[in-house]
Amino acid sequence: MSAVPVEANDLQAYASSVASCTRCRLAQGRTQVVFGSGNPSADLMFVGEAPGFHEDKQGLPFVGQAGKLLEKLLAGIGLHRSDVYIANVLKCRPPGNRDPQPDEIEACESHLFRQIEMIEPTVVATLGNFATKLLSGRPLGITRVHGQEQETTLGGRSVLLYPLYHPAAALYTPAMLEVLESDFARLPALLGRVLVPTPEPDLALVAAPSPPAEQLGLF
Ligand code: SF4
Repeated sequence: MSAVPVEANDLQAYASSVASCTRCRLAQGRTQVVFGSGNPSADLMFVGEAPGFHEDKQGLPFVGQAGKLLEKLLAGIGLHRSDVYIANVLKCRPPGNRDPQPDEIEACESHLFRQIEMIEPTVVATLGNFATKLLSGRPLGITRVHGQEQETTLGGRSVLLYPLYHPAAALYTPAMLEVLESDFARLPALLGRVLVPTPEPDLALVAAPSPPAEQLGLF
């Protein structure tokens, strides 16, 4: 943990550099870049879609109604938003809260990957379709993959990717909220899992018994 202050400074320095980003058209309509917020060395990181009206005004992710729901869900598992890190795929608000466009995601994704690299989370919970498809590298929608953790490599490290419904979608759909709450309830257990690095091939182990039941669930 001794490296935490340095990491925090690095992340802050990177945030400052992104504040003037003009890589895509969204730079023109934004009030400000919404880089992300929370614990710079969090074990749990959330990735949503893009800033909305309130986020654009305040410069923080998830501050509207969806943010309140996210905070409530976090409180339900004993966490506060300052314990986790929250970011979005896009750092600038799309006009009228329209969906992110593919070229905007392409322009912005390296900011997110760099964030993940610096924060080094154990679990990355993707909120909704856009974050899930980008970080899983698969076209499967959130309805099919929510609640199914997947070990993947992000920022050069093994992390557990955990797709969840977007809180904004769950706000007005009670059935979806129920699923989101139930998926959320598994987060503490996922955070308790230790990711075992892929071992180098070793002929002496070929005939060894199966690995312990700690194996991570894949699709
Ligand atoms: S959305 Fe991302 S790539 Fe586009 S201007 Fe904002 S920070 Fe830059």
